Amino acid sequence: MSKNENTVIAIDGPSASGKSTVAKAVAEALQYHYVDTGAMYRAVTWKCLEEKIDTTDPKAVVALVEKIDLAVGFQTGKSRILVDGFDPGARIRSEAVNEAVSRISAVPKVRERLVAEQRALRGHADMVMEGRDIGTVVFPDTPYKFFIDASPEIRVQRRADELQASRDRIAKTLERRDRHDSTRAESPLKVAADAIRIDSSDKTVPAVVDLILKHIRTRHFGG
Ligand code: C5P
Repeated sequence: MSKNENTVIAIDGPSASGKSTVAKAVAEALQYHYVDTGAMYRAVTWKCLEEKIDTTDPKAVVALVEKIDLAVGFQTGKSRILVDGFDPGARIRSEAVNEAVSRISAVPKVRERLVAEQRALRGHADMVMEGRDIGTVVFPDTPYKFFIDASPEIRVQRRADELQASRDRIAKTLERRDRHDSTRAESPLKVAADAIRIDSSDKTVPAVVDLILKHIRTRHFGG
C-alpha cells in the first residue's frame, strides 16, 4: 500500500455474523468513513425488481446494469448509492431483495461495476469497508483484514431477533444466501489467507470491536 493512499480496513463475513455493527463501531472509533458494499448489491437488485426484469436471467441483468446510472459517494461519513439519481433507502432491505440479491451479485458484470466503484472510494477517505470479498478481491493489498464469523445457530437467532421473525424462515433464507455466496464462481465468500478470523458467537460487540482496534493499532503504530 503506498503511503499516499488512504487506509482501508476490510471486514468480511457471512450474513448476520455481526459484521455491520462491528464495522460501524470500528469506523466511528477511528473516525473513518464507513462503506456497506452489501447495500450496493442490494440497490442494484432493488432496481432489477423495480424494472421487473427476470432476475434468473443473467443476460437481462447485464442489459439493465449496463444502462443504469450509479452514483456512489459519501454522506456524513457513510457510503450512499443513487440508482438513476434515486436513493432506494430502506427498500433495499425488503424480503424480495433478500431473496434475489445473491443471484444478482453472482453476475460478473454486476461485480465488475460495483468493485470499480468501491475501489474509487479510496481516493476520498480512510475507510472501513464491509462485505464478502473486500480482503480477497477489492483491496487485497490492505494489511488490515478481518473475517467475522459466528455459528449458524447464533446467526439465525440474531437475525430473527432483529427482524422479529420466525427462526425457521430466517434459517432457510440465510442458509440459501450463504450457500450461494460461498459457492459462486466469481469472488466467492472466503477467508483471505492473511485475514484475522474472529468468531463472534460468544463475544459481545464491544469485545469484537476492541479486538479489531488492538490489532489495527499494533500494526499501524507498532504497539
Ligand atoms: O451484507 P449484506 O447481507 O447486506 O449483503 C447482501 C448480499 O450482497 C450478500 O448476500 C451477497 O450476495 C452480496 N454481497 C456480495 N459482495 C459483497 C457484499 C455483498 O456479493 N462485497
